[in-house]
Amino acid sequence: MSRYRLQPSPAQEAGLLEHCGHARYVWNLAVEQHMLWKPGRRSAPGFAEQCRQLTEARAAFAWLRTGSIIVQQQALKDFAQAMANYFGGTHRRPTWRKRGRGEGFRIVAVKAGDVRRLSRHVGEVKVPKVGWIRFRWSRAVPDEVKSYRVTRDRAGRWHVAFAAIPDPVPAPGLGEVVGVDRGVAVSAALSSGEMLHAPGLREAEKARLRRLLRKLARAGRGSNRRAEVKAAIARVKARESDRRKDWVEKVSTGLARRFDVVAVEDLKIGAMARSVRGTVEVPGRNVRAKAGLNRSILAAGWGCLVRRLEDKAPGRVVKVSPAYTSQRCSACGIVDRQARESQARYRCRSCGYAANADVNAARNIAHAAGHVVSAREGPRVAGPVHREPQHDLLLVG
Ligand SMILES: [Zn+2]
Repeated sequence: MSRYRLQPSPAQEAGLLEHCGHARYVWNLAVEQHMLWKPGRRSAPGFAEQCRQLTEARAAFAWLRTGSIIVQQQALKDFAQAMANYFGGTHRRPTWRKRGRGEGFRIVAVKAGDVRRLSRHVGEVKVPKVGWIRFRWSRAVPDEVKSYRVTRDRAGRWHVAFAAIPDPVPAPGLGEVVGVDRGVAVSAALSSGEMLHAPGLREAEKARLRRLLRKLARAGRGSNRRAEVKAAIARVKARESDRRKDWVEKVSTGLARRFDVVAVEDLKIGAMARSVRGTVEVPGRNVRAKAGLNRSILAAGWGCLVRRLEDKAPGRVVKVSPAYTSQRCSACGIVDRQARESQARYRCRSCGYAANADVNAARNIAHAAGHVVSAREGPRVAGPVHREPQHDLLLVG
């Protein structure tokens, strides 16, 4: 993601905060509308209807009218997308936005001259109603920026991210399929046996975070001290999330470049989160053992990795049913509920195959993808897969 550090002047910052406020206000209105909705009633207003209501509200309230209509409309659009993600099962239900947390807004219909370079390390972006704001030109800005998003993190830093769908990475054309299992102890396991670890905080940073959290507990409510400690905590967390984002970019590019087909579990993160609460059970996964790990799974940015893969390898990402991927032996195909010796080890009691449990799952995912690919496109890409044992993992249409 091309994300750049914005350097607004204090006056510009006030303008940006106003945009954030309007975006938050409109978003929260949309949340409220959808919360009031009860089953059996006429459906809650969709994006088009909400845009009409926004026009009326702008006519009625001067303070809303003074804001940017793009900012306000895009907040509705973001909300519509969030609801679609929620109904799609990949995300949680959108909720209230609070001041100071995850603030931001989106600008669309960006014109060619709205982003320009001033010097080697300095660029400028034109923000409606605020003007030209400088940013650190830390890497090449994509051509033909169509939209961008301005965000303020909890540490108070402003960023601008220019939206340009990355150019697809060319497939190597060797017919290789890789299965990727999202792990917990490791962040991703490949069917090739590789383990990819998402970077987190270093030990010293973790210790510092623990110290800061203790300080926060002691700091009095509303004190300056508390605000300082909170900002310090936010900086540590921002560093961690920057590292994760970097990791996702590197891994997704690497996989797209090395393999023709990348297979992942069609495991909806939202559905998994619910399964821990006991409403949906994803077959083959040990729900109880995962309960405490849920947060780390979400933190590992699995959904983010899959999205980037789909951007970079369009049409080459295959999602397969997660059924039994963790219990099935990838060597002989038998499903053995007791084969999992621990969270980390898989040992087949039938054929003796032993491997890291996540790698075993990744191999099953690759096998299943081989079926999808060969059913869809014939043996062209599926060549090597046919030498692997055949399983009937496939539930994908
Ligand atoms: Zn076996």
